[in-house]
Amino acid sequence: MVYQACPIKAEPKFFMNQNYVIIVAGGSGKRMDAGIPKQFLLLNGRPILMHTCETFYRFSKSLIQILVLPVEYISTWEELCKTYSFAIPHRVVEGGPERFFSVQNALRSIAIGEGLVAIHDGVRPLVSHKTIQAAFDAAQQFGNAIPVIPVIESVREQTATGNRIIDRNKLHLIQTPQVFQCKLICKAYEQEFSTSFTDDASVLEKMGGKIVLTEGNPENIKITRPMDLVIAEALMKRA
Ligand code: C5P
Repeated sequence: MVYQACPIKAEPKFFMNQNYVIIVAGGSGKRMDAGIPKQFLLLNGRPILMHTCETFYRFSKSLIQILVLPVEYISTWEELCKTYSFAIPHRVVEGGPERFFSVQNALRSIAIGEGLVAIHDGVRPLVSHKTIQAAFDAAQQFGNAIPVIPVIESVREQTATGNRIIDRNKLHLIQTPQVFQCKLICKAYEQEFSTSFTDDASVLEKMGGKIVLTEGNPENIKITRPMDLVIAEALMKRA
């Protein structure tokens, strides 16, 4: 494991076409109410975050993995790596007070080159290789790509006088990894923070970027509530 304080100096030139995956796990996971951040909870006997790193490592061993962790849990992670003999090469970057600042810290730690950067929620270990590949392929062609799945529930919007149905066929649920040309996303993340930034695509969109949608996979859930952990365990056993 290479631990690097952030920001770091630019990397050597041979990294200029390098692809990266930034795995964001800098949040405290209050909705899980588990005492420790949800990314460290065990899923089939191993921390969720290790499963996520393993998924990307199996996808491509040449992707540089950057993990963003809450500063107060970096030593916990190092202990977990020893306990679980976790050997996937990765760098650690400190998280920020919002997801935006966690991603910004990670982006500032890499050399701005011609490669692609995937940004993925640490608590989505069940992303499929097909979803990752589709996002990389489209980002290579169009500069960005984000995986989506259809909305299967009916959806209502709150109005001033009550509520009204929305046409769910016009809606998409957004997943990660969201993949971008490195130069584009690094520039986008130098904008001022806005509370409207709920994902990385919204940051690029604010700068005028047109967002490209690719197919996600329904198992790629964001483990957020205790119930999600039960579902993820079942899905993982089935795989
Ligand atoms: O809060 P939310 O569930 O949207 O978080 C999505 C991902 O962003 C999680 O993996 C979480 O750890 C990460 N995050 C972060 N830094 C923060 C807040 C959230 O890296 N300050």
